[in-house]
Amino acid sequence: MRTVYFREDHMARAIRKIHVRSTGCWEWTGTIDLRSGYGKAGNGVRYINKYGYPSEVKEQSHRVFYRHFIGPIPDGLELDHLCVNRKCSNPWHLEPVTSAENARRMMERRPFCINGHDKSLPGATYKRKGMPNFRGHCKICVMEQDRAYRDRVGQQTINEYARQRRAAKKAAALQV
Ligand SMILES: [Zn+2]
Ligand SMILES: [Zn+2]
Repeated sequence: MRTVYFREDHMARAIRKIHVRSTGCWEWTGTIDLRSGYGKAGNGVRYINKYGYPSEVKEQSHRVFYRHFIGPIPDGLELDHLCVNRKCSNPWHLEPVTSAENARRMMERRPFCINGHDKSLPGATYKRKGMPNFRGHCKICVMEQDRAYRDRVGQQTINEYARQRRAAKKAAALQV
């Protein structure tokens, strides 16, 4: 078993990955879990991975920061982002709450899109293909954007682009 040296403490490394916003949010600039939208940070627990290299257990970045600056997270509680910014790891923007309370608050906050459409209504959000699902696109806005694009370039141009894409795909398939 080889000896493992980490040049610095996991918190020193984590703090370098923080970008402070004017809102006071400590935004995580490291890895973001695309499914949940939360930052992923090493929590200081080390192990040797299956390739024989030193590695570190990853955890949600805001949990790592909360534990370091405030203390242990009470059992069975979730950390609620009071600033509604999942990338934020500022421990003073977090509050430990029960999962029921967290869900209730999420409903109460009723997220609005940039144009003021209520995104909490059923069917108001839209998951774009290939995009992470944590950020629901506002359906009304997407439809308006599509309509504006169609008005600008015309349906014929859109059909022509689609035809070109199909032809390119076909040509690529033939080459293989
Ligand atoms: Zn924040
Ligand atoms: Zn909208």
